[in-house]
Amino acid sequence: MRRPETLSLQVPAALRQPVTSLEEAESLSQQLRRFNRPQLAWLIEQATPEAEAALRQAAGLLREHYYGRKVYLRGLIEFSNVCQNDCFYCGIRRSNPSVRRYRLSEAQILDCCRQGYALGYRTFVLQSGEDPAYPAPRLARLVTEIRRRYPAAALTLSVGELSAADYRLLRQAGADRYLLRHETADAGHYASLHPADQTLQRRLSCLRELRAAGFQVGSGFMVGTPGQTADCLAQDLLFLQELQPQMIGIGPFIPQHDTPLSQAEPGRLRQTLLMLSLLRLLFPKALLPATTAVGTLHPLGRELALSAGANVLMPNLSPQEYRKDYALYDNKICTGDEAAECRACLQKRVESAGFTIDTSRGDPVDWEETKL
Ligand code: SF4
Repeated sequence: MRRPETLSLQVPAALRQPVTSLEEAESLSQQLRRFNRPQLAWLIEQATPEAEAALRQAAGLLREHYYGRKVYLRGLIEFSNVCQNDCFYCGIRRSNPSVRRYRLSEAQILDCCRQGYALGYRTFVLQSGEDPAYPAPRLARLVTEIRRRYPAAALTLSVGELSAADYRLLRQAGADRYLLRHETADAGHYASLHPADQTLQRRLSCLRELRAAGFQVGSGFMVGTPGQTADCLAQDLLFLQELQPQMIGIGPFIPQHDTPLSQAEPGRLRQTLLMLSLLRLLFPKALLPATTAVGTLHPLGRELALSAGANVLMPNLSPQEYRKDYALYDNKICTGDEAAECRACLQKRVESAGFTIDTSRGDPVDWEETKL
């Protein structure tokens, strides 16, 4: 990549030495927020080990300033692996005939919530493919029932692209948060990962509609998808700065053996951790998960992600018998444990990395101020 001519004047000196104070971290955060696309791309591509260490230290200081060493838990319920979409990277895409499809009933989902609540979870995340058998009115009734039973818990949905009216209905039913990764903000790259009927334009308008409906919005992207460049990742950072989501989930691309991208190389751990530190610096108050995908890529991936700036974990609350069938990518971890085992394992991992589990709802620190 050609070095931008003006960059030598703007590379923060902090990236050439350890970052040891909150003031230095804040100053670095402000400087990075002024970086343009070529500058961000250059940093992503060319960051030296010293620069990566400085970014990690600064990210840690900011996370600690806003959230202490707390790690928030989100109990994930993968309630249907039926999907009408055909994303080229996804193991449960509609064109994969090898998937054993399942769909939980409302009673099964409520039972997952009951177990999760007893284990201390105060956020439930209901995630599925885009399953036509769970249209918004049916989901809204379920949301209302979960909120009635567990008023102290936050409820997050991650069920894909819906209409603006559907989003409003789900928000009015009591859902607090909605996760919809944009996956990549580069239109050409998006088109290389999705069939023609799935467009970046549609994905971005859904995200804006979710904001307008009053959700805490989560977006995010994959790191290391085939054909992705540092410039694509720079565009992701700039798009997120425009959207200002409350949550940002990123994970390395990991191929799934039944997809068109089965032969592609996985994303790299080092680049994923660098992106996490950059996200913490650009979005100091965001909630950033240490994703299962990063834990799949490396045995200590989630601990390293916490050290790079993440502050959320999403343990699986789905019934054990279905977990292996929600195989978005190969070798996904945590598919064999009971919910209680997952909880105990995560507690150990979090504490060994020097953090503590927080069992509150885990809203963004400034949520009341910015409520729509
Ligand atoms: S990534 Fe989501 S929308 Fe795409 S095929 Fe998989 S489950 Fe469906």
